[in-house]
Amino acid sequence: METKTLSKNKYQEKLLQLSYDAANQCVQCGYCLPACPTYESMGRESQSPRGRINLVKMAAEGKIDLQKDLAKPIDLCLGCRACEVACPVNVPYGHIYEAAKEVITEQQNEEQAKQKSNLQMKIRNGTLKQLFPHHKRLRTVGNLAWFYQKTGLNKLVQKTKVVNKISESMGQMEKVLPELESPLKRHKFGDVFPPKEEKKAKVAFFSGCIMDAMMYKTNRLTIELLQSVGCEVVIPAQQNCCGALHAHQGLTDEARKLAKANIRAFEASGADYYINNAGGCGAALSEYDHLLKDEPDWFNRAKSFASKSKDITELLVQLGPLPFKKEWNGIMTYQDSCHLRNVQGVWEEPRKLLRSIPGTRYIEMDGSDRCCGSGGIYNILNYGESMNILDEKMKKAEKTKATTIVTANPGCLLQMKLGVERSGLANRVKVLHIVEALAEACGIQ
Ligand code: SF4
Ligand code: SF4
Repeated sequence: METKTLSKNKYQEKLLQLSYDAANQCVQCGYCLPACPTYESMGRESQSPRGRINLVKMAAEGKIDLQKDLAKPIDLCLGCRACEVACPVNVPYGHIYEAAKEVITEQQNEEQAKQKSNLQMKIRNGTLKQLFPHHKRLRTVGNLAWFYQKTGLNKLVQKTKVVNKISESMGQMEKVLPELESPLKRHKFGDVFPPKEEKKAKVAFFSGCIMDAMMYKTNRLTIELLQSVGCEVVIPAQQNCCGALHAHQGLTDEARKLAKANIRAFEASGADYYINNAGGCGAALSEYDHLLKDEPDWFNRAKSFASKSKDITELLVQLGPLPFKKEWNGIMTYQDSCHLRNVQGVWEEPRKLLRSIPGTRYIEMDGSDRCCGSGGIYNILNYGESMNILDEKMKKAEKTKATTIVTANPGCLLQMKLGVERSGLANRVKVLHIVEALAEACGIQ
């Protein structure tokens, strides 16, 4: 790796502006190293938080090349932000990481526009821009997936392993897709649901993009749980994708547009709280103030939006108890969503709710606070690394003898389902979103 000072290009200047002050807060103590899953699995300084921060600084100073020297270590970061929690001087690693992603992607986009190359990147950017911000298109994909399962086509495709031949990671994910219920049961945007007991709060529900397209049963159950603790639930019609994947993939301008659309839509709802059920989305929503910090017309609105955004488990603890109706059979354990725990600071509430289910035997899993290797779309882009992390996670899950593994984010849910398949536990272990587990215990189907 070259360390002499190169002449800085405009991207390095931008990186300097976006992240240099934050990166300079790092005192190189290394306390974050044991918390980092990629440092643990790869054992290299360049794959640690401290190493990545140093590389960002060097790139911003023009000492190393953005693409040759920085892009790979940043790509291999899960973005789990466990390092932030471990850091004694509060280095905002997540913001440094996103700034690096932004400039790396900007340069790649510009160079690839000239060369008309890199199909993978074009597909990734095209999907993020043309699919995720469009509910109707995503719902069509969800409806096709339901049809695909309903007609048994999925079994045929799995037998022929055709998806695996195109992409192993996609083939694996296809196998663990949850069973979709009829799209007719999906809520409509603009719907209002009354509380099932005395009204305690008015909440606006954030449907998400993947959750809305592919996991709408969990969304339906979320609304019913909220109703059961006294919430009037509204579904703001003009809401959009949270923008988390866009920000993590360096498409920051796109993320800002989505944030503004959501702020407008939720402000108009007049709700007391804005509730979501996906740790990854919730983290993005809770950081809209950072995303829009340089836009004076939006900053205060974003701050107010972020302060009203809550994960469903927070509100259920606040307004509960839940009306449980059933005893739980078997042992339960919980895998944290990194973004719910490390960014939103929510880790006690899910455990409190699970332990409160009648009959539960809850066993804490060793390392439950460490990333499962899902990392947004990390498991698709860096499949091998992701599976190394997952296989270690499953050894720990197996030790708990849990018959149910619970988590709180769609990406973690699919990853843990895949882990159960890979480790041969599928016959005796089920994986549930926390909303599914709580609804089942409340007799809500
Ligand atoms: S975000 Fe996670 S993977 Fe990335 S450096 Fe921090 S701890 Fe390591
Ligand atoms: S713990 Fe914080 S200050 Fe210490 S090396 Fe890691 S990021 Fe830097």
